[in-house]
This record gives sequence, C-alpha cells and structure tokens, in this order.
Amino acid sequence: MSDCIFCKLANGEIPTTMVYQNEFAAAFNDASPLAPVHVLVVPKNHHDNMLDGVDAQTFMAMVDCVEQVVELTGIQNSGFRVLTNVGADAGQTVNHLHWHVLGGKRLSDSLA
Ligand code: 5GP
Ligand code: ZN
Repeated sequence: MSDCIFCKLANGEIPTTMVYQNEFAAAFNDASPLAPVHVLVVPKNHHDNMLDGVDAQTFMAMVDCVEQVVELTGIQNSGFRVLTNVGADAGQTVNHLHWHVLGGKRLSDSLA
C-alpha cells in the first residue's frame, strides 16, 4: 500500500529506530507511548488487521518479534500486555495490522 505509514516504517522507507526486525515483521517504538515500553509489532506486508488474510509464517514472525522485544527491553519476567485493535469501534486508527507490546509499569486493570 503506497500511502500506508506502517508499510513505510516497517520496510525502511521512512527511517525509524527498529527495536527488532526479522524477514517478515518489524518492531518499532510507538510515537505516543502509553507505557515505559510501548512497541508496535507489524508485518512487513500490508494487512488491514489480523483477519485480513495473514499467513502463519507472518504470524510466527510477529510472535518472534514479541519474544525479542520483551527480552531486549527487559520486561520478559515482569507483566506485559500484547493487544491489537480491530476496527474503528475498537480504537484502530492505523489500518495496518499492529500488535501493541506494553510494559514497564503496572498496567491498567481494565481493557475496556
Ligand atoms: P491503534 O489506535 O490503531 O491501535 O494504534 C495506532 C498506534 O500507532 C498509536 O498508538 C499511535 O501512537 C501510533 N502511531 C501513529 N502514527 C505513528 C507513526 O507515524 N509512527 C509511530 N512510531 N507510531 C505511530
Ligand atoms: Zn501497510
């Protein structure tokens, strides 16, 4: 998708500090962090959301990113949260699949 900001960030067309990347997915810091650790894990290919024809290889690459991010940021042994918003009513504002990895503080008890 030529005008998708996360496509550009994930594929290096817009420079960003990568926390971690592999062949199919990338992890970079959220521009408006809600926690000391707030990293976005996104596939390098465009998918609108997690129901948009994502293959197993891509999901596994995203899981690899999560595993590496929590280790690299030192939150692997404390609580952290992984979440994805699907659709505007859930709060999705960027229409490129992304998982929020949140940690480094006591997180809110409520998800909704
Ligand atoms: P959503 O609300 O769609 O679940 O999450 C979108 C997230 O993307 C938000 O947390 C927002 O701060 C982040 N974001 C939006 N634009 C940019 C950007 O250009 N760069 C980065 N690094 N994060 C962004
Ligand atoms: Zn995209």
